[in-house]
Parts: sequence; structure tokens; C-alpha cells
Amino acid sequence: MAVFTQEQMAQAIADIRGKIAQAAKVSLRQPRDITLCAVCKTRTSETVRLSAQLDVDIFGENHMQELVAHAQDGAYLGKDAHFIGHLQTNKVKKVVGTARMIQSVDSLRLLEAINSEARKQQITQDILFEINIGLEESKSGISPSALWELAEQAAAMDGIRVRGLMAIPPAGAEDSETRRYFEQMRKLFEKLQSSIYSNHSVDTLSMGMSGSYLAAIEEGATLVRVGTAIYGAREYRNI
Ligand SMILES: *Cc1c(COP(=O)(O)O)cnc(C)c1O
Repeated sequence: MAVFTQEQMAQAIADIRGKIAQAAKVSLRQPRDITLCAVCKTRTSETVRLSAQLDVDIFGENHMQELVAHAQDGAYLGKDAHFIGHLQTNKVKKVVGTARMIQSVDSLRLLEAINSEARKQQITQDILFEINIGLEESKSGISPSALWELAEQAAAMDGIRVRGLMAIPPAGAEDSETRRYFEQMRKLFEKLQSSIYSNHSVDTLSMGMSGSYLAAIEEGATLVRVGTAIYGAREYRNI
């Protein structure tokens, strides 16, 4: 399937906004309380630019090279980009400051590297901790029980602002099972919100993708990451 035209993207986004509004109602929130993040991995700068003209709030990038290329090309049209992929410490330098938020922090080593680079740039980097909520061996993310120690360590780092949590539940799980993972995430998020650290400003729960964003919002997501449903199927290039 070819990538969507701008008209198809506009239609898809209108459809997604309508569904977000319904799901927001179920969870007693306003539609605009939910941030729509367009996940643009593998997309060209031209495609990203066309989508930036439409009703998406922010962009999500999985690869440092694509983040840098899209940013240099001005493809985001002033909207924020978040980093949502696995981040190696040797790539931190280019991601800090370019990404408004790094959603995928999953180790003390990575947290320290981000803090050190942010201090060097004299900025405060917003981050989320990525939780491996399905406790999958092959997945990145920390276990829920490892969160508290890392959150406390982050509290001592003045280049870091902790904004919340991100999760990718196991692929291929039953809908009811996925919903239970989302519910567990919300409980963890609420617990993190009630732990008071001066450099934590916990307001973001990032969960739900093209096939699961409705359930995620109903269970409390404040930010959904949608790729395929906005742009069409991905064609992987060598990156
Ligand atoms: C690719 C990706 C998404 C979007 O997935 P779709 O199924 O295309 O909506 C969301 N989050 C992360 C972390 C991703 O890597």
C-alpha cells in the first residue's frame, strides 16, 4: 500500500480525533486533554511536513538519524518532536535538546548520559520512564518494581525533569489483556504522581498505538502514539 496523500491523512486524522473525543468522554476528560503524537518513523521529510500542516499535536521518532533529518529539514513546522525509540548512550548528544521529550528512558546509565548532556547544553530535558509492563524478556523498558529507585535517582539530577511514564504492551495480546496492562500503567502513573520530588512534574502517560489508542485513553492515557492509522502502512528502508 502506498503512503497516504495529504487528503487521506486529513481524513484519517479527523476520524482519529472523533474517536479520541468519544474515548475522552468515557474517561471524563476533554478531547484536547489527550495529545495526539504522529509516529513518523520511516516517513520522508515531505510526508512529515504535509502531516504537520494537519491536526496532529506532536511527532514521535524512533531513530536519532530520522529525528535529526526531519528537524534539519524543518519538517515539523514548529511542532515538538518526542523521542520514543530505544536510545543508545552514544546517540544522546544529538537527541537531547532536539527532542522536546525523551519517552524511552530505561536505565540509570541512559538517565545519567541525558542529564550530563542537558547540563552541558544548559537545558532541562523532559523525560518519561519506559515501563516493560508485560515483563517481556526481549523488550526494553524497566520493570514496574525498578521504577522507584530510578525516579529517586532522577530527583537528584538538575538536567532532568520527570514528566511521567510510557509503555508498549506485548504485541498480539488479547484486547482484554492489553486493557489490563493499561490499567496497571495508570495505577503506576498515579503512584508516581503522588511521590513528591521537586524536579518531577508528572502529567504524561504515553500509551496506545493505532490498534489500541481507544482502550488506552479509556484507561487514562494522556498521550497516544499513532503511526499507521495516520500515514498508512510502513515500508521499511535501510536507515
Ligand atoms: C511504531 C511505534 C508506534 C506506532 O505504531 P502504529 O501501530 O503504527 O500506530 C507507537 N509507539 C512506538 C514506540 C513505536 O515504535
